[in-house]
Amino acid sequence: MKRLSGKRDIGLRALAVVLLACGSRWGRSAENAAGAGDKPNPLPAPASNCVYDGKALPWPVPDAKKVEALEKELRDQLPKEDFVVLTVGPWVLGTDLSEVEAKRFAGSTIAVYAARIQKQLFTKSPRSEPVKVYLFKDSDSYTVWNVKLFKERPSTPYGYYSRARRSLVMNIGTGGGTLLHEMAHAMAEADFEKIPAWLNEGLGSLFEASMDRNGRVVGFTNWRLTGLQKDLEKGTATKLKDLLELSDTEFYGERSGSNYAASRYLMQYLQDNGKLEAFYERVRDGKDETPAASLCKVFDGKKTVAQIEADCFAWVKTLRLR
Ligand SMILES: [Zn+2]
Repeated sequence: MKRLSGKRDIGLRALAVVLLACGSRWGRSAENAAGAGDKPNPLPAPASNCVYDGKALPWPVPDAKKVEALEKELRDQLPKEDFVVLTVGPWVLGTDLSEVEAKRFAGSTIAVYAARIQKQLFTKSPRSEPVKVYLFKDSDSYTVWNVKLFKERPSTPYGYYSRARRSLVMNIGTGGGTLLHEMAHAMAEADFEKIPAWLNEGLGSLFEASMDRNGRVVGFTNWRLTGLQKDLEKGTATKLKDLLELSDTEFYGERSGSNYAASRYLMQYLQDNGKLEAFYERVRDGKDETPAASLCKVFDGKKTVAQIEADCFAWVKTLRLR
């Protein structure tokens, strides 16, 4: 099993390399498919024919003009002496990592791990809308550039996804797991537009500590365990019946730490029982009256939510940090 490594080799070399990958190539091929004077091709673009570094990507061909516009925005914002611009499917990266590191993240974290998560879970509507991904090499760069670009200090040291700015803004010095967390949100948004925060954050948090198991990406026990185990000891853990009904405001409210942890480990519990995809799909597709009903359904209707919670939390108590 190969664990997604957070190890990094942050190069400080200034680079003036601008790498053009799939986005631009698709753009040219799409535009050149019909010669001058030909009728426009009425056929829609193929669902997915994008390749990066020899790997087939699961995302549909994004609009070439939109990709080019985002690439231009990044080049205009970020000095070419220090930043590389690199496009992989709908992900338009601007990074001050070394060229080697940038390609490593693109070829592994995005073209393998995120691509597998896309195929495993978000099966209805793979993301085609391009999105900017700012990958800042360390905490200093992340903070300084947040202030320069967005006029504010980030509220999290790791990174975030801004729907409004159509941007992932990452301190990649914290490792590829954080990037996967935020990419999961961007993929979820395309697949399930109104995904509730408790589900969105549970999935993002699940994949922030991931490994390859027989060609699938699986989340493994991570730092959020400690808080949940303490909550369980004190009897203050978020109840699953409550979690599944939380509004987004409630989820991100006073008890957000407990909510994240409960949701994250519910997702891992479902994953380890082979029920994660079925649960996500039932909630996304509104197959049942409530998410609680969907949870019962994936356990064949043989357990109540309280019984599932008892099993899940008993299992959480046995977990140990690696
Ligand atoms: Zn998140």
